[in-house]
Amino acid sequence: MIIMKFGGTSVGSAHRMKKVAELVQEIPGKKIIVLSAMAGTTNSLVEIANYLFKKNNSIAAELIEGLRIKYYKEGEALFAMEVFKTKAKELIDSHFDYLLSFTQDSFTIHEEKAVLAQGELLSTALFQLYLEEIGQESKLLSALQFMRIDKDLEPDYFYIKENLSRLLNENSTSELFVTQGFICRNRYGEIDNLKRGGSDYSASLIGVAVEADEVQIWTDIDGMHNNDPRIVENTSPIRYLSFDEAAELAYFGAKVLHPSSILPAKNANIPVRLKSTLSPDSEGTLITSKVSGSGIKAIAAKDGICAIKIKSGRMLLAYGFLRKVFEIFELYKTSIDMITTSEVAVSVTIDDTTYLEQIIKNLEPYGKVEVDQNQSIICVVGDFVKKDKGVALNVFKALKEVPIRMISYGGSNHNISLLVNTEDKKAALIQLNQLFEK
Ligand code: ASP
Repeated sequence: MIIMKFGGTSVGSAHRMKKVAELVQEIPGKKIIVLSAMAGTTNSLVEIANYLFKKNNSIAAELIEGLRIKYYKEGEALFAMEVFKTKAKELIDSHFDYLLSFTQDSFTIHEEKAVLAQGELLSTALFQLYLEEIGQESKLLSALQFMRIDKDLEPDYFYIKENLSRLLNENSTSELFVTQGFICRNRYGEIDNLKRGGSDYSASLIGVAVEADEVQIWTDIDGMHNNDPRIVENTSPIRYLSFDEAAELAYFGAKVLHPSSILPAKNANIPVRLKSTLSPDSEGTLITSKVSGSGIKAIAAKDGICAIKIKSGRMLLAYGFLRKVFEIFELYKTSIDMITTSEVAVSVTIDDTTYLEQIIKNLEPYGKVEVDQNQSIICVVGDFVKKDKGVALNVFKALKEVPIRMISYGGSNHNISLLVNTEDKKAALIQLNQLFEK
């Protein structure tokens, strides 16, 4: 079984949906197709939900009707036969009438999740209807019947496997299944989701549940590139990555794959292949447990980082200081990305500054606190255990013109992280690119 996940832009228009259908038909064997909402839809639904929260029902209704018209147009373009055009219109209306019902009713966080779910429910229903029109047998599976998170908002692996297996067994003659990414139920059975961008995560959880041969993530980019293609010219896709290397890159900025999707695949040892719907013949990137090649493989950058330095004489020769510092971040459920320490100070970085004020207040009794916003983490990824000497030297040589605020090396064998001012990020990425030039 193969899992093929297509992102929002890949199903972003009738034309692109048709291309996806072609691609799916080309690949033999049993498949589960996981779709995102059409590009832009989830953002629009978030906006609608915000107006509903604010009880600004007339603006919410206007936005709902605007989106409905967009879907009518795509429905018109997607289907050729009148009967299917009519079915599509009915389907679109059922979702938009449901959305509209919230402008008459109370609106809470639970309803917000139901509103956000409509994007994936619509894209999958339309896609499956299109497969029907072109005579391709397929079965639509509702992710709400098998995808579930537990009380800690973690995937309920047992439930997912049990329920997905049951649904697949009930439809054992089908070869092609279509289901939604992103959406799930929570432990109370309410509609929930796996957080923004979570469709990749859905695909990998489904892959684990069915012990898939491969999870394919189809986007508009032909794999993970060795540098940020938005900033650096002539980047190239990396053919092979290990799970650990891919995890570092996905977490630190490479946008093609949601970071949380790697761990389930790694634990179950299921290969993840990144492919482009725009150039399906390109090889893309294959992520497996195998480490291939050595030295530097890729560079990525993550913006929106805040560095916090706590300087304290009390740290000198003391034990338990770091624990106290970390407990404050734990209290505010704020995860730390990078850490560097000296005998009298510790610097950490965070990307979620929701509780920054409270964190600073709590840290102040332990020492002098300094905060630097607008920082970027540059992450150099590769296999640094092998005999390559001088990897760090080459990185620093390349960056001789760029002021570096923090360095983290040795935390894993796959990563050198550097913190720079965001305004220096572009220069840093361009200069580091020399490391790939032969
Ligand atoms: N549609 C959701 C979002 O835009 C999930 C996804 O596309 O992965 O966040």
